Amino acid sequence: MRLTVLGSGASYPGAGRACAGYLVQEGGATVLLDCGNGCASNLARAVRPEDLDAVFVTHAHPDHFADLYALQAALRYAPDGPAPSVDLYAPGSVRDAMLAPLSDRGRAEMLEAFVGHEMNHGEPIEAGGLAIIPWRAAHSVETYALDVRGSAGRVFYTSDSALTDEMALFAAGADVLLADATLPEEYAGRAPHMTPREAGVLAREAGTRTLVLTHLWPSIDRSVAVADAAREFGGRIIVAEEMLSIDLAEEA
Ligand SMILES: [Zn+2]
Ligand SMILES: [Zn+2]
Repeated sequence: MRLTVLGSGASYPGAGRACAGYLVQEGGATVLLDCGNGCASNLARAVRPEDLDAVFVTHAHPDHFADLYALQAALRYAPDGPAPSVDLYAPGSVRDAMLAPLSDRGRAEMLEAFVGHEMNHGEPIEAGGLAIIPWRAAHSVETYALDVRGSAGRVFYTSDSALTDEMALFAAGADVLLADATLPEEYAGRAPHMTPREAGVLAREAGTRTLVLTHLWPSIDRSVAVADAAREFGGRIIVAEEMLSIDLAEEA
């Protein structure tokens, strides 16, 4: 299983970066987790957009779905002709938010590009041979963490979430924990996100091997983020970067 970071930024992309987006590939499976600002461009550096088996959007904040519009255009105007519809798994609020700013024609095009499916807490979804289990996260709107299980490993993506005991249970035993690490430590508890140190607590409690700090505030000092996480977690810590790939077979 290969995880590729398409966007590591929180809320808005810093210079040269993109917002939330992660590509998971295993065997023939090609799945996109979130599609924030700038992800469609980085996605096309890794795969043909028309080869996606499914797109998962964790919640209705624009930094997690804004590039669905770009992805729709990439599918519609694919070099070999319009691509078949792609399955889009998301809370119903994402569908509403995605369609809200569009004309009737724009809505019709989005609904043609994406076949919408609801996601429900704890109910596994099969996509291209991977099993993806949504777990409810602790954020300001309905949000799901995504637990991606394949034959060659398991990636747990917290999406945007505060630190909770429940999240550590959901993530227990994952090979790679891809964790919200938005807030500098002095902002701990002031927004429904984790700090890098809290991401370290989660990694330790979940017993994961590798922690990837992501959804980073554009001005955060990334070396301080690693040091903060290392105060709590003794395993491998990686800071997400656009186009960084982690091969889970090599993690084992
Ligand atoms: Zn976010
Ligand atoms: Zn959010």
